[in-house]
Amino acid sequence: MREAIIAPVNYCSSCGEPVSKQVPPGDDRERFVCSACATIHYENPKIVTCCVPVFEDRVLLCRRAIEPRRGLWTLPGGFLETGETVFNGAARETWEEARARVDGDGLYTVFNLPHISQIYMFFRARVVGGRYGIGEETLETRLFREPEIPWDELAFPVISKTLAHYFRDRPSGVFPVRVEDIIIQGAVGTPPMPAGQDGGTRR
Ligand SMILES: [Zn+2]
Repeated sequence: MREAIIAPVNYCSSCGEPVSKQVPPGDDRERFVCSACATIHYENPKIVTCCVPVFEDRVLLCRRAIEPRRGLWTLPGGFLETGETVFNGAARETWEEARARVDGDGLYTVFNLPHISQIYMFFRARVVGGRYGIGEETLETRLFREPEIPWDELAFPVISKTLAHYFRDRPSGVFPVRVEDIIIQGAVGTPPMPAGQDGGTRR
């Protein structure tokens, strides 16, 4: 999972002329609008889709080879690509980062992060054959039993929260879908930072 490169929209992707922020007629918020062809460039949240890959009683974690949080442990995941379903995106990221094929067991946790205009979705999944490896963005991949989880070395709060829910739910075998909002004080209501459609927008 790579970090989104947040860059302002400066030029129209339709005609190449400069854009400016204005409220289009009939709208209620500022958008980037082209000065020449009047195309409105809408900015919408990005989806980060992830797996909780499990083999027997262990969970597969990856140690990050990239910033941010290089060297810390994460569940495999990244930005959903155009044309993918959310689970297929999570499975693809699991292959890319952990070289593991997975069978899905359904949606598990959803986190809204409005301050960075991102939505995280985690799917429970089984590692096929218990086979895994090391992808390009990964230093090390390992299956952890619950007492071995490196809680102090997890990369992101959404990872800690998902794993905590998982180990709490596991004894009952019931894994309800959980939706949480991660609200950063002072950031809510701030217009989302515009992000380019290219330029390495991966997390
Ligand atoms: Zn234009």
